[in-house]
Amino acid sequence: MAKKQFKAESKRLLDLMIHSIYTNREIFLRELISNASDALDKRYYCSLTDENHRVNKEDLKIQLEIDKENRRLILSDTGIGMNEAELETNLGTIAKSGSLEFKKKLEENNDLDIIGQFGVGFYSAFMVAKKIIVESRSINSEQGYAWTSNGEDGYQITPILKEDFGTKIILDLKDNTEEENYDEFLEEYKIKQLVKKYSDYVRYPIQMECEVSKPNEEDEKEEPITVKETQTLNSMIPLWKRNKSEITEDEYNEFYKNKFMDWNDPLKVIHYSVEGTTSYRALLYIPSKTPYNFYSAEYESGLQLYSKGVFIMDKAKDLIPEYFRFVKGLIDSDDLNLNISREILQQDRQVKALARNIEKKIKNALEDLLKNEREKYEEFYKSFGLSLKYGIYSDYGMHKDQLQDLIMFVSSKEDKLVTLKEYVERMKEDQQVIYYACGENIEQIKKLPQIERLMDKDYEILFFTDDVDEFAVQVMQQYNDKQFKSVNQGDLDLDSEDEKKQKEETAKQNASMLEAMKNALSSKVKDVKISSRLKSHPVCLTSEEGVSLEMEKVLSQMPNGNEIKASRVLEINPNHEIFTTMQNVYESNPELINEYADLLYTQALLIEGFKVEDPIQYANEICNLMIKANK
Ligand code: ADP
Repeated sequence: MAKKQFKAESKRLLDLMIHSIYTNREIFLRELISNASDALDKRYYCSLTDENHRVNKEDLKIQLEIDKENRRLILSDTGIGMNEAELETNLGTIAKSGSLEFKKKLEENNDLDIIGQFGVGFYSAFMVAKKIIVESRSINSEQGYAWTSNGEDGYQITPILKEDFGTKIILDLKDNTEEENYDEFLEEYKIKQLVKKYSDYVRYPIQMECEVSKPNEEDEKEEPITVKETQTLNSMIPLWKRNKSEITEDEYNEFYKNKFMDWNDPLKVIHYSVEGTTSYRALLYIPSKTPYNFYSAEYESGLQLYSKGVFIMDKAKDLIPEYFRFVKGLIDSDDLNLNISREILQQDRQVKALARNIEKKIKNALEDLLKNEREKYEEFYKSFGLSLKYGIYSDYGMHKDQLQDLIMFVSSKEDKLVTLKEYVERMKEDQQVIYYACGENIEQIKKLPQIERLMDKDYEILFFTDDVDEFAVQVMQQYNDKQFKSVNQGDLDLDSEDEKKQKEETAKQNASMLEAMKNALSSKVKDVKISSRLKSHPVCLTSEEGVSLEMEKVLSQMPNGNEIKASRVLEINPNHEIFTTMQNVYESNPELINEYADLLYTQALLIEGFKVEDPIQYANEICNLMIKANK
């Protein structure tokens, strides 16, 4: 039988795995046991839904065997098994989805701590084995097959005789070297310890023939005798069925990491049970770090669904709203039909009620975190806040009431994250609206000319740095009867009556100059105005109500978004020297007004982060000015 090569990138990844010295190499056992447990779940499910596949629950188990003589560790399960094609696709290609990304990360920091995230579990066995044989027989097949590989140069699949269904994995442990010793994986105590540590809650017995010493019954004075005895190494009670008060943080964390393929401890555990029309237990987790593919189409959200402790499906999307898609976990209900399919799940009234209830619980848990563990909440928010903001924006704002108290923004006060509630509660007495400013980052926003006078008057400003921010508050329209107001849109209403009068006067006196500027820029701006938001800066760009400058930027990056434009207004600071200069130019040299207006407009564009329409012309104009000034 010819040897087959691993797909190119699988091979490179394997090389890395085989040759890296990894302190946590022991996790290979947890990965293999977890695969076996999944395979048993699948078989049990088949047995309940298809009478051709009946099996006794007692026959579902995992067996470990140590063969010291041949330096082998053997792991068998009576699960669903794999046929030839499945061996090929499941073990011949590494982690179909995440492999490239995984390899990149590995090469970047040579850190194997991320194994779990990428579903390359099986291959972790190559950290301790020089050769792996997987003997398997699918419950749908008469024939068994063996997959053999030393990881380095491909794999082989051969037909074998296998009497029972399931999978047997034989690990030929690596030879010891001066740096590395693998003997511990041939020690009973070590294997027991690893099973306890990582796989205690696995719901099928994990058994091993163990040596037990017994008193010599014939003659008690003699040395005790050693006998072999099959022991079950795990306690088998699913974690979510146990009492909350009896579960340690470690147990919750290990379960999470093992089951949901994350190396980091979760940020928050939500474990509860509900009695009612649909009774269920839930064990939910909020991860502490954003999964590497969270914002890509590849990320699959959803909860695992169990019915009466029987695994039904992975990633049931309909149990959780899109904006809480970061939550991982499982639901176990005694009231659901075992034959429930994804299609039924979507329409089922009972499931919809379940989903609503889960959503409420998650929301409460987050509110609780915000209230009682602020630092943790902020950590959570940095990882997943974007998801909440998209949630507000999506579906025409249908979920805004659910989410508005969970979102936060960095504000001009203290540079810290604040909630809308906190903002509104400390608004100044005369303040009518919630001010916000958009920009690429906080530092840039702080330098915006448009916020000068607001800051001067000590109004708090929310800093919007994500594209979705402004869209989200536009959908909300208001929070607690307070409208949202962009610092560079419309009128900020910052002037006192006196100031207003004075401004009107200035505008009147300079009406023709402003008109000339407006004409000069007629294709670019809707209006040129005396500004009341500037203090020390000469000019700034604002927009009239409606589409804002930031929204224009975001929309222009979308297909067909180019047509949507903000109506731009150039504002000039009447207290800046440039204003007097413009007045003088207009009186003595009116033909220059066009060029000057254009220069000011271009500067305002630059400050706003827009591209200059004609950078060459702008550069030439500045040069001309420099030359003139020094003649
Ligand atoms: P993951 O478990 O993340 O999918 P693995 O590399 O650990 O990635 O396993 C790849 C696939 O091989 C599994 O998804 C499963 O379909 C199959 N597999 C692994 N071990 C077993 C087993 N003991 N019995 C049946 N199928 C298995």
